Amino acid sequence: ERAPVITVDGPSGAGKGTISQLLAQHLGWHLLDSGAIYRVLALAAIHHDVELENEEALTLLAAHLDVKFVSSSEGEGSKVVLEGEDVTNAIRTQEVSNAASKVASLPRVREALLRRQRAFSAEPGLVADGRDMGTVVFPKAPLKLFLTASAEERAQRRFNQLQDKGFDVKIDRLLAEIIERDERDMNRAAAPLVPADDAITIDTTGIGIEGVLELVLEQVNKSK
Ligand code: C5P
Repeated sequence: ERAPVITVDGPSGAGKGTISQLLAQHLGWHLLDSGAIYRVLALAAIHHDVELENEEALTLLAAHLDVKFVSSSEGEGSKVVLEGEDVTNAIRTQEVSNAASKVASLPRVREALLRRQRAFSAEPGLVADGRDMGTVVFPKAPLKLFLTASAEERAQRRFNQLQDKGFDVKIDRLLAEIIERDERDMNRAAAPLVPADDAITIDTTGIGIEGVLELVLEQVNKSK
């Protein structure tokens, strides 16, 4: 945990994923998409018929999870590979989103994934995207950001994203699921979604990606 880390936490659809990717690219740093790990675990559970409440079995599955993040040559984010299978798109469905937030509520599952996440920290630095990057996984990170936006705006962004990828979704249902997922993430006992005490909160409601990136880079420059 020597290399510098910038943590980017917040609820789903706040723009963390895109911003973290752009920031990592800009700095030439590594990127951890911790949500993808929970999503892959959820998908593995579905594949192997493991119940989403079975903490013991899920913890075992988490400890042995065979997942690889393969960066693509075009710099277009990375491919997610589970047990040799490309699951980059499969982990983005609503079913997997909901399953991920269920398995993520189990403390022993989270514990089992800690080391795997910390291993992403390497020179020259890491941008870590998630819910508990600043509070639990990298508590000593010198710069912690917390991105938020109204639930309506986050639903709209997800809607646009999913539509672009060819998924047929209803915005009302998306909004309901975002609210439900946030509630579960904020109210769980293990590593709930809260800003770290020393996090800088950025409300991105009504601000485009370029504008958010500008605000984030301001904080990065200030912290140098
Ligand atoms: O960020 P993303 O939407 O891909 O994350 C999927 C789910 O994984 C979240 O709803 C949350 O429950 C869980 N998660 C978590 N801790 C993280 C990242 C994601 O609990 N650091």
